[in-house]
Amino acid sequence: FVHQLADPAVAPEVLLASPLAPTAESGLPLPAALYGPARPNSAGADLACEAMRAPLLAAVAATRVPAVAEARPEDTAAAMARLAAGFGAWSARPLAERAGALRRAADLLEARLPEYCGLLVKEAHKTLGDAVSEVREAADFCRYYAEQAEARLGEQLLPGPTGERNTLRLHGRGVFVCISPWNFPLAIFAGQVVAALVAGNTVAAKPAEQTPAVAERFVALLHEAGVPEDALVLLHGPGETVGAALVADARTAGVCFTGSTQVARLINRTLAAKDGAIVPLIAETGGLNAMIVDSTALPEQVVDAVVQSAFRSAGQRCSALRLLAVHESVADGVFTMLAGAMKELSLGDPALLATDVGPVIDDEAFAHIERHVARLRAEARLVGETPAPAAPAVPRLVAPVAFEIGAVEDLREEIFGPVLHLVRWSGDVEQLVARINALGYGLTLGVQTRIDSRAERIAHLARIGNVYVNRNIIGAVVGVQPFGGEGLSGTGPKAGGPHYLYRFCAEQTLTVNT
Ligand code: GLU
Repeated sequence: FVHQLADPAVAPEVLLASPLAPTAESGLPLPAALYGPARPNSAGADLACEAMRAPLLAAVAATRVPAVAEARPEDTAAAMARLAAGFGAWSARPLAERAGALRRAADLLEARLPEYCGLLVKEAHKTLGDAVSEVREAADFCRYYAEQAEARLGEQLLPGPTGERNTLRLHGRGVFVCISPWNFPLAIFAGQVVAALVAGNTVAAKPAEQTPAVAERFVALLHEAGVPEDALVLLHGPGETVGAALVADARTAGVCFTGSTQVARLINRTLAAKDGAIVPLIAETGGLNAMIVDSTALPEQVVDAVVQSAFRSAGQRCSALRLLAVHESVADGVFTMLAGAMKELSLGDPALLATDVGPVIDDEAFAHIERHVARLRAEARLVGETPAPAAPAVPRLVAPVAFEIGAVEDLREEIFGPVLHLVRWSGDVEQLVARINALGYGLTLGVQTRIDSRAERIAHLARIGNVYVNRNIIGAVVGVQPFGGEGLSGTGPKAGGPHYLYRFCAEQTLTVNT
């Protein structure tokens, strides 16, 4: 019946009569057991079942993170020479063989799920639930790109006049440089590398400095699955030296980068300044992601979606929610419920099943987030926060926190942590969308409304890559929610989508006079 309301401002009264309306002012209790992924790549089943959970917990307890060797300048040069020489043979392999290697990699990865979860928890400080989801996502990337390569990258016969045969063919571009972030050190690393490989490129992979061990383990797995040593080389080290040398190398035929907008710009400038071929950049960068809540939205659904989107993975996803814009007529109620839910989150050791929010990645990130929170404590209104444990078992825990700020425009910088900014809005929702667009980022957007036409209108106006209606805005599923943004959020490729592999290919039209 709410769908029929002409004036959404009437909705609060209607909601009070709804059986789903909140009955207590104290906020919505959100037990840790309910707080977790509930999507197809969910870790729920693995963790709910004792037979699956026990080996995971044992593997985490037993994991020691091995040290890796940093690439020297001569290693980088040698790797590029080797990959350039290896390109001919790898790109000439039949598609089915390249795809077969990816499928074997997916099988191996799944068979070794506990081992990879151990590394993700110990090296990247992921919660166990996030670790399981990430291993599954990496396996999904392998299988999905294998299937897409076979479906899309084969030779295509085109119509033409009699006496002529026209064929369109796709092939790898050469040596692709893949530079990946620490926040999905397995899934994003794997997604980039296997997409480039299956399209017929050889790959120089440079994982984030914070998370080299999991990348090293996965590269060994790909070699075991049948990717030759001269088709894939891993190079560890800082972006400023190793990454920069790879991007600047004359043999680089393409760059795939996930990380900050600032570094993507730097890579773009380096590529543009080079002599020789024009080298494409595939970049997926940050976001200032918002969720718009109108007066018809279901408050319980909003709060659950907000908690997941803003605080899961300690807010360290580029898809994470940074700005919650709630219609002024329902804002007080939603904020109160949100504050109640935030009190229920448990902050602590990521290796414990009860933990909802683990530590942030390193001291630099911790200090940066803490400085931002200190500024907000002085300048904005505190609405909710998760109690910090009295004696923290692990370092670098940032308690989820939410502040009401003055306006959308006050949000300028992406803070990569569990910090949520709240604003109230009124008037025309189209103006609100225009203000969100004006932030310049375009990665994810949430819409909470029971008016279908409004959700459709907002999605139409938003210059944003992934729009989620009446749910959380994280955890895009491979092949189901192709993921990637526009504007300051990237060059627009959709990881886990049907067009992604084309970005790694060159095309040839072959016309033969018969
Ligand atoms: N694909 C992830 C998600 O949908 C985010 C990836 C990222 O943080 O870069 O939550």
